[in-house]
Amino acid sequence: MAQLLTGKEVSAALKEKMAVQVQDLTAAGKTPTLAILRVGERPDDLSYERSAMKVAAGLGIEARQFVLPADASQDDIAAAIDQINVDDSIHGCLMFRPLPKGIDETALCNRLAVEKDMDGIGLPALAAIFAGTGQGYAPCTAQACVEMCDYYQVPLQGKHVVVVGRSLVIGKPVSMLFLQKNATVTICHSRSENLSEITRQADIVVLATGRAKAYGAEYFSAGQTVLDVGINVDAEGNLCGDVDFDAVEPLVAAITPVPRGVGSVTTALLMQHVVQAAEQA
Ligand code: NDP
Repeated sequence: MAQLLTGKEVSAALKEKMAVQVQDLTAAGKTPTLAILRVGERPDDLSYERSAMKVAAGLGIEARQFVLPADASQDDIAAAIDQINVDDSIHGCLMFRPLPKGIDETALCNRLAVEKDMDGIGLPALAAIFAGTGQGYAPCTAQACVEMCDYYQVPLQGKHVVVVGRSLVIGKPVSMLFLQKNATVTICHSRSENLSEITRQADIVVLATGRAKAYGAEYFSAGQTVLDVGINVDAEGNLCGDVDFDAVEPLVAAITPVPRGVGSVTTALLMQHVVQAAEQA
């Protein structure tokens, strides 16, 4: 049976550390403050917003909502971002995506000041991750993969990490974060040939493709750590990862479940970024 790498303990450890930092900041008159920028009323956004507000409140972090109607224009959203950028009492911003159709999302992501970009959505933050300068915040889900390994003491230095997926949200940044940890990283994607041969050679496999239960036992080998980033809905309507958990779990050394795995560390990391931004402001 594989060790189950659940996110709850990782989040709890992060929050415990943060509580002290928030106390110190608040005592110094600098309450860490997060702006949440939402356009429209997408159920996924609303649900994440509710949970982020709850986590923030529990930590003593102030969360300020900036809500625009679904038909907001490019200029309206840009104006909200500008307002957040110049407000010294706001330390970081979470902007929900995707933005409505017809909006130039890339331009707006890049408009957010890098020091307030809490989820690494702008090119300046991504450039910092790729350059290894440490001047921007990594996308929270990508960082959650590394935090999982750190918390559960999965060795990374010199190990072979195979990442399946090459998006700017997860695949590419997570590859750079593992590289910074001195892992040897292979990035695979939809055109990769002999994928199962490559993944079977890894010490750690990261799946971030958005394909429900698509990766069965033939993709894995004994002793591996599997980090399943996918959040999908299976044929029965249940939440599931990219990995066929029931088939793979008996084979590997350690695996993250979905839900309760990598995704459940994301909000704690968002808050950690806000606290770091407040410390640096
Ligand atoms: P994208 O759709 O942007 O990227 C998917 C990647 O998977 C692409 O690089 C694609 O390759 C690759 N891919 C698709 N099919 C295959 C295949 N058959 N074999 C190998 N690679 C393949 O998705 P995201 O990166 O945004 O998200 C990935 C998953 O992570 C989703 O399930 C999403 O819901 C989840 N997620 C979870 C979060 C959380 O936990 N909080 C946050 C964000 C996302 P190519 O580039 O060649 O097309």
